Amino acid sequence: MSAAAVILETCRGVKPAGCPHGAPLPADALATLAHLAETAPVPEALAELARPMRRHEQFRLAVSACPNGCVRPQVADLGLVATRSVAVDATACVGCNVCAETCPDAAITLRHGQAVIDADACLGCGLCARVCPVRAIAAGPVGFQAFLGGRLGRRPRLGIAVGNMLTPEAACTLAERATAAHARHMRPGLRFGDILCPDGRPGLPAWVLS
Ligand code: SF4
Ligand code: SF4
Ligand code: SF4
Repeated sequence: MSAAAVILETCRGVKPAGCPHGAPLPADALATLAHLAETAPVPEALAELARPMRRHEQFRLAVSACPNGCVRPQVADLGLVATRSVAVDATACVGCNVCAETCPDAAITLRHGQAVIDADACLGCGLCARVCPVRAIAAGPVGFQAFLGGRLGRRPRLGIAVGNMLTPEAACTLAERATAAHARHMRPGLRFGDILCPDGRPGLPAWVLS
């Protein structure tokens, strides 16, 4: 007996006009992830059992189109979070302070009448670029933060951050490698995070890092 080996959960913002906060995914990246979820094989050690895969044995791939993380990517087996780098054009900024008042993370201050973004505090949501009345803030292309091995349940754990500003292609490659590792190594009763870090030990397998 079997159940889907990979569950793809996407927030509504991954599609154009799905959510005002979202940075939509390129259609081909979305199609790649959907294909991965549809075709992922049930791990051999689980396919032989006289029961469907349990929920925690399935691989949950969660994709959020902004750092609000509505599909809980930080506690997924693989979570992808779309972000955008932002930059202020000092020659265009008129010092109105709208961006600083809007930023949810207090990452913008006005210095000498110019908006300045604190890169360490910025989460890359792109909101400031949308509200600037003179379009003085440019948002770069969508990149992905990636989290591996997160979980809820009896021993909850946030996923390990394994990438920042990954291109959509690199994010899809990581998803292919992670689901392939799930198919190869998953055993009854385990969670993907147990495979990634046996006994909770830190360190990541080579397929993540290559
Ligand atoms: S994660 Fe962001 S883009 Fe996705 S539904 Fe939530 S608020 Fe909208
Ligand atoms: S991208 Fe988001 S977090 Fe970063 S400065 Fe703009 S509004 Fe703030
Ligand atoms: S909203 Fe635009 S014009 Fe106003 S302070 Fe921010 S960057 Fe400058």
